[in-house]
Amino acid sequence: MTEQQQAGNNLDPWYHHYSERAAGLRASEVRALFAVASRPEVVSLAGGMPFVSALPQDLVIDAMDRVMVEQGAVALQYGSGQGIPRFREQILEVMALEGISANADDVVVTTGSQHALELVSKLFLDPGDIVIAEGPSYVTAMVIFRSYQADVDHVPMDEHGMIPEALREHIARLRATGRTIKLLYTVPTFQNPAGVTLSWERRLEILEIARENGILVLEDNPYGLLYFDRKAPDAMRSVEEDGVIYLGTFSKTLAPGFRMGWALAPHAIREKLVLANEAAVLSPSSFSQLVISEYLSRADWKAQIDTFRGVYAERKQAMVSALGEYLPQLSWTNPAGGFYVWVTLPEPLDSKAMLPRAVKELVAYTPGTAFYADGNGRQNIRLSFCYPTPEQIRLGIRRLTTVIQGELDL
Ligand code: PMP
Repeated sequence: MTEQQQAGNNLDPWYHHYSERAAGLRASEVRALFAVASRPEVVSLAGGMPFVSALPQDLVIDAMDRVMVEQGAVALQYGSGQGIPRFREQILEVMALEGISANADDVVVTTGSQHALELVSKLFLDPGDIVIAEGPSYVTAMVIFRSYQADVDHVPMDEHGMIPEALREHIARLRATGRTIKLLYTVPTFQNPAGVTLSWERRLEILEIARENGILVLEDNPYGLLYFDRKAPDAMRSVEEDGVIYLGTFSKTLAPGFRMGWALAPHAIREKLVLANEAAVLSPSSFSQLVISEYLSRADWKAQIDTFRGVYAERKQAMVSALGEYLPQLSWTNPAGGFYVWVTLPEPLDSKAMLPRAVKELVAYTPGTAFYADGNGRQNIRLSFCYPTPEQIRLGIRRLTTVIQGELDL
């Protein structure tokens, strides 16, 4: 039993029965925040909830109706463990927008891309393995990696994404200490949490480094189509087929309630992924697949993504303008798409210690420490602009200003 398990909650009579792996399942800071941030008087700049109200309900109702009338028996039944073939063909059309050409045979439909992260981890990670990730990185991917008892090694980023020279150094250092690097996990476009995008040149360089070192790249791309002005660089998978597992999702371009995502895997890996999917869920939801499939074939889904882009662009602008107006002494990233702004606080502020004060002032954010496996991030906060209205965003930043000034005056 690990120390962590021993130090755990003794009120649970089954405490000593948990697997060692379960010790990695700790409530994230984001999760604890949700309870507080969901109070109506709190402006939450904390979660990453898509603004699903921008999706016309009649489009969804129409698709659901048609599915039930025309294919009800299939929709309510178990289906293929890999996903419905026609739906996988349509997923190819979505990925083509980011330069990917692939075969529908290599697409595995999953319960959100979160579930694809779980399946890939299950297939590849043994205790003590290393996953290289950006610093900071997506919190709930790290929860999964840890739950498979792997360690996350963070490679620093700048405004162009992960720094290739730093990646080379990290690989060399890890290898020198005998560690096994299994995956390079990256959110290259409009990163969660930093809002940064990996430049095209670096995409090529990082793929080259991964190839040279025999490291499988796990490209997680939920936000790529949510650019504001200019299309993002094509996906890394568009240039490298054998060394990349690509993850996509309908959560941000349609709605997360469907819980529909996918993995596009190198052909050799795809079969194992299907077996893992079957073992976990038998088959992904037939109902959700058919409804989305119907929506993709009848609705103008590209125009709907444009609508989302417009909503988020306006909110991003509201956030960076308010930051410029109220908190010019801070620095922040100015994302070209996605949901998040990453703010750096002046010394000696501590984002985690400051949070109770923020909640008292009725504003919530996610402390930067949530996005590092190694305790870094005290000087950072992640602000999300996806869900609150521009007015709420301004109010939230005003409240944050009160919090920060209060801390600095202490
Ligand atoms: N990866 C990243 C980087 C995310 O931000 C999210 C959602 N916040 C996910 C994966 C999971 O998304 P879903 O399971 O809804 O597809």
